[in-house]
Amino acid sequence: MRRRTFIGALAASSTATALGKSAEAAARPPRAKTTKITLLGTGTPAPSLARQSSGFLFEVGDDVIVMDHGPGAHQRLLESGHRAVDVTHAFFTHLHYDHCMDYGRLVLQRWDQGADKIPDLEVYGPPPVKRMTELLFGEEGVYGPDIRARIEHRSSVDVFEARGGKAPRKRPSPHVREVHAGDVVQGNGWKVTVGHAAHVQPYLECLAFRLDAPDGSVCYSGDSGLSDGLVELARGCDVLIHMNHYFSGTAPSPAYRAACGNHRDNAQTAQRAGVKTLVLVHVLAQIDQPRIREQIVHEIQKEFSGKVVWGEDLMQLTLAGPAIASIEGY
Ligand SMILES: [Zn+2]
Repeated sequence: MRRRTFIGALAASSTATALGKSAEAAARPPRAKTTKITLLGTGTPAPSLARQSSGFLFEVGDDVIVMDHGPGAHQRLLESGHRAVDVTHAFFTHLHYDHCMDYGRLVLQRWDQGADKIPDLEVYGPPPVKRMTELLFGEEGVYGPDIRARIEHRSSVDVFEARGGKAPRKRPSPHVREVHAGDVVQGNGWKVTVGHAAHVQPYLECLAFRLDAPDGSVCYSGDSGLSDGLVELARGCDVLIHMNHYFSGTAPSPAYRAACGNHRDNAQTAQRAGVKTLVLVHVLAQIDQPRIREQIVHEIQKEFSGKVVWGEDLMQLTLAGPAIASIEGY
């Protein structure tokens, strides 16, 4: 029943131009006036039921943006009350699997449920995200046979038409733009500036993103150790969402620290950038326990004068105002 209602809403939305703006407004779910951030996945590649791998959701005006979509992040998207069809843009900081493994699920569920009535997903990320997209969804791609079956088999066409689609069905074809540090992506009332993250170069190009919205700014570090470029990117942001992988001093090697940073490094980055709130994510089980958590927050607060938030899956924050809007997931 809920699904029927949902499909009806989509159908109405696709004809909104002909019906005028009031019909469009009635057909679309209401959007928050202030930018809303939901932490979808605050974990690492390590298996965890409490923390899914990296994924973040930003609702800005009429757009629903995900940044990274690691394994489990899509499940959290559903738990947050959204579906794949709601997502308009996807940004990837880098192509470590814990940041992009649910890309396939996002695109295929969006394609299936969208029934050719929503625009293709806008995708941004470092190379080789175009090649990854082709290898997943192209005719010779991993999902090529599935996609062909769903386009051509009568039973699938029947379902597609029942959802309001008009055969022949189009293939899923995300609009992919490969981006690099220094690029700017202009959205409808928002922009994303691409910065450099210090992580596992030269094997993967690693990026950070700054989202400037009408009511403030948020920077997402991706995975990064200390980086002057990241400090510049995050300068003056209301919120900095930063990888906080492990406890300072326990890194197995200098290379590990350079690629992942630690909580003292993050305190320094947040203080230098002058952000108001630092949100700690990408948290290993090593530090995700009573007393260790408090010690980390306490030590960060000795060096950083803003607020520190211990990120949890499904936690929601806003940019406007200094406080957390609500906390869910406990
Ligand atoms: Zn990584």
